[in-house]
Amino acid sequence: MKYCRFCLRVNSKYQRGNKVEGWEKIAGGIYMRRTDERVCSTIYMLDGGSGGRLIIDSGDGKMPIGFVPEICILTHGHYDHTGGVEKNWEEIYLHPQEKKDAPYILVPKNAKPLEWKTKKFAQFELEAFHTPGHTMGSVCVLERKSGVLFSGDTLFAGGEHGRTDLQGDSALMRESLKLIEKIPYRLLCPGHDEIEKRA
Ligand SMILES: [Zn+2]
Ligand SMILES: [Zn+2]
Repeated sequence: MKYCRFCLRVNSKYQRGNKVEGWEKIAGGIYMRRTDERVCSTIYMLDGGSGGRLIIDSGDGKMPIGFVPEICILTHGHYDHTGGVEKNWEEIYLHPQEKKDAPYILVPKNAKPLEWKTKKFAQFELEAFHTPGHTMGSVCVLERKSGVLFSGDTLFAGGEHGRTDLQGDSALMRESLKLIEKIPYRLLCPGHDEIEKRA
């Protein structure tokens, strides 16, 4: 039995050795791609048609996405989310409070500080929420029209939250979970494992 190093949840797919290839549609224009063979984050992609593509997290880099995204938003700095960022990507955002010297952090050199609250991209309307706890620079990103919330390693399906012992903070995590509770999302899309409709 294997555990995800970051969320400490048993990854059932590990045991079956399943590999999920390609992109799976989860909402209008929103797709996900994930591997369950190793510690690698799910990559989410917002397809803006001729406006290009935006991705949430980049995976660990062992699963190249095969295109250059217009924008890449990193939910936090752990390498399994940031390792896929390529040098030729131009618009990459990571929260400025992410600690560069914490364990498993890998900050791409070309990342810019995520200092905006809302961002329009093609037909999508994004809103960023700073949700420290798992790491100090963790964010959740809401796509307002679809109600999809990209929660990184802060909140997982089943109500579990990410570990806080890698220079995170459990008191901040509690505050962040309270904040997430108030976000009007309908579909939770975490950085690992299953996505989940809000009850
Ligand atoms: Zn992770
Ligand atoms: Zn993490």
